[in-house]
Amino acid sequence: MDMKDYKGVLVFVEQVDGEIARVSYELLGEGKKLAATLNTEVTAVVLGNHLEALVDKLATHGADKVIVVEDPALETYMTESYTHSMTEVVNEYKPDVVLYGATAIGRDLAPRVAARCSTGLTADCTRLEVQEKTNNLLMTRPAFGGNVMATILCPNHRPQMATVRPGVMKQAEKMANPDCQVVKYGVPNLANYQNVEILEVIKKETERVDIMDVDVLVSGGRGMGSVDNFKLLEELADVLGGTVSASRAAVDAGWEEKDRQVGQTGKTVRPNLYIASGISGAIQHVAGMEESDIIIAINKDESAPIFDVADFGVVGDATKIIPLLTKEIRAKRDNEG
Ligand SMILES: Cc1cc2nc3c(=O)[nH]c(=O)nc-3n(C[C@H](O)[C@H](O)[C@H](O)COP(=O)(O)OP(=O)(O)OC[C@H]3O[C@@H](n4cnc5c(N)ncnc54)[C@H](O)[C@@H]3O)c2cc1C
Repeated sequence: MDMKDYKGVLVFVEQVDGEIARVSYELLGEGKKLAATLNTEVTAVVLGNHLEALVDKLATHGADKVIVVEDPALETYMTESYTHSMTEVVNEYKPDVVLYGATAIGRDLAPRVAARCSTGLTADCTRLEVQEKTNNLLMTRPAFGGNVMATILCPNHRPQMATVRPGVMKQAEKMANPDCQVVKYGVPNLANYQNVEILEVIKKETERVDIMDVDVLVSGGRGMGSVDNFKLLEELADVLGGTVSASRAAVDAGWEEKDRQVGQTGKTVRPNLYIASGISGAIQHVAGMEESDIIIAINKDESAPIFDVADFGVVGDATKIIPLLTKEIRAKRDNEG
């Protein structure tokens, strides 16, 4: 492998039923920044069937070029056909950097493509930078249970590959009239790579919104004391037009569902307002919420580490303070009509 042949930043765009995953837009934003430092361009690669409608969206979100691989065999995500197609694209275009979302699909696909391209992969990154002088990618991720941040390099192989946690990177500002090249890339005989047949896709029905998509999160920890006290958080979230999330301790206690967990092994959120109630502020929790615009912490222990990241703090019993807050805000709303 001649490393000089490898140029540009390639972003794997994840789409399901024509819906682009938000993390793909975040990766285009981050890819654009890296490409500017490397004086190169960012290319989106999207795999699937009937993808015309997606190209404009990728262009307005920062892609300089979009590679479209369309085939009936790529209609639904399948490990073998996607791995083969992505490997073909990487071998053909020889990017310097390849980014994937650290989602179920990205985690399945990225290591396989990396192995077939004889390169490394850094999984679950939370920061990407370009090293001065060498232009190597510095890929940073939590290690040893989140107690240290490890920065990993891939200096002797190309491409440099990373999966990136959803919610960590910022999307690029939308562009009005983007200048974007579109390339259709065909991968022959893809049907030969379909050794598994999908008989039916059963989607999980959920009425609750994703905690990564809301502006206000009222988050509860072990200090809330019981599942009944979590209802107090629901009431506050209701009057604020937000939703409830939780620490891992509260999820482990069965007071909230796993998809509501904020933190290193949960979700990374950045709402306008994050209320942390009865949460101590362990490093693994803070890693998932410290980018929130405004953080309010309620804790009966004034030395709790959550106050180190909070913009406003209330020292006291959350089970008493939360209902008072709800009452005050509701009364103010009612007065304002
Ligand atoms: C590899 C690894 C990954 C992890 N991933 C995550 C993760 O994704 N998310 C996560 O949250 N954690 C994660 N953890 C666990 C983390 O280390 C903490 O154990 C956890 O966040 C603690 O949850 P907590 O703050 O709710 O509970 P505690 O640490 O027990 O804190 C409870 C807090 O409530 C306060 N309190 C008690 N009663 C009241 C009251 N009546 N009113 C007000 N305050 C009160 C206490 O003073 C205390 O500060 C992870 C740990 C490891 C090792």
